Amino acid sequence: MDEDLNEGHSTSSIPARTIGVVGAGQMGSGIAQVCAVAGFDVRLNDLTEERTSACLETIDSNLARQVSKGVISEEARQAALGRIVPAPSYDDLSMCDLVIEAATENEEVKRELLADLCPSLHPDAIIGTNTSSIPITRLAAATDRPERFIGIHFMNPVPAMQLVELIRGIATEDSTYEAAKAFVSTLGKIATVSEDSPAFIVDRILLSMINEAIYAVHERVGSVDAIDTAMRLGANHPMGPLQLADLIGLDTCLSIMQTLHEGFADTKYRPCPLLVKYVEAGWLGRKTRRGFYDYRGEKPVPSR
Ligand code: NAD
Repeated sequence: MDEDLNEGHSTSSIPARTIGVVGAGQMGSGIAQVCAVAGFDVRLNDLTEERTSACLETIDSNLARQVSKGVISEEARQAALGRIVPAPSYDDLSMCDLVIEAATENEEVKRELLADLCPSLHPDAIIGTNTSSIPITRLAAATDRPERFIGIHFMNPVPAMQLVELIRGIATEDSTYEAAKAFVSTLGKIATVSEDSPAFIVDRILLSMINEAIYAVHERVGSVDAIDTAMRLGANHPMGPLQLADLIGLDTCLSIMQTLHEGFADTKYRPCPLLVKYVEAGWLGRKTRRGFYDYRGEKPVPSR
C-alpha cells in the first residue's frame, strides 16, 4: 500500500487494494469483514482450511445481521463476501499491499509466522500487527522490513468499535505510519497513537481492571454476577469486566497480563492465579463456550 490510499475516502472511490489477513480468529474475521465492506480485496490465511471456512461463515452471518438491521444492502453484502478469498499459503499473499497479522497472542508464534511470511510478500508491502501487547519493535525485528512494520490495533468487536491504536516501532518510517493512518480512515475508524510500551494504552488500562475483577472473584469479594452488575450499574460500563474478559478470550487476557508483568517487572500486573487456572482448564471464554460464564445453555450463567 502507498500514498494513493489517501485518495480513498468513500467506498466508491477506493482504488483497488488488497489486504492480507493472517489469523482468521475473532479479530481476523472482524478485520477481514470491515476491509471487504470498505471495498478492499481480502486474502484470508489461517493454519487450517476449517478455520478459514469457519471465519467466512462468521462473516456471512454478521453481514446478514447487518442487512436485516438495514445497515448495509443485500448487494453490498454479496459484494463484500465476494471480495474475501481464502489464502491457504503465504505465497497467496504475494499481491497484498498490506498484510495484517492477527494470529494468537503469543510472541513465539508471531515471530515465527512473521519470519516465514516475509519471503512471500512484495518487497514494498507493509505489515501491520494487531497484537494487543507485544512490543512492536521486537516483532519488527523478526521481519525483513522493520521500517514497513507497524502496530494496527483494532478493538473487539471490530465492526462495532471506532478506535484503532497505531503504534510505531523504533524503525517504522513516516510513510508507513501515514499509509496506516489513511487505511484506518478509509475504514471509517478513528486512529489514536500510542508509544511502543507494553499493552499500549487501551489494554494496559483495561486489562489491569479485568485482572483486578478476577482477583475480586478469587478473593470472594463478590460473585461473578455481583462484580459484573456492580461495574455495569455502578460505573456505567456497557458490560461487566468478567463478561468482557470472556469476550476477549481468557488466553489473550493472560498473555497480555504476562507481557505487562514481564515488560514493567512490576508486581501490580501479576496475573491473577484464577485466570491462569481457567486458561489451564481450557476455559477460554466465549470461544470455547466456557469461561467466567457457561455459554452452553440458552442463556449464559456464571460458571462458579
Ligand atoms: P483467536 O484465538 O480468536 O484467533 C487466533 C487465530 O490465529 C486462530 O484462528 C489461529 O488458528 C490463528 N493462528 C495461530 N497461529 C497461526 C499461524 N502461524 N498462521 C496463521 N494463523 C495462525 O484470537 P483473537 O482474539 O482473534 O486475537 C488475535 C490477535 O488480535 C491477538 O494478537 C490478540 O492479542 C489481538 N487482539 C485481540 C482482541 C480481543 O478482544 N480478542 C482485541 C484486540 C486485539
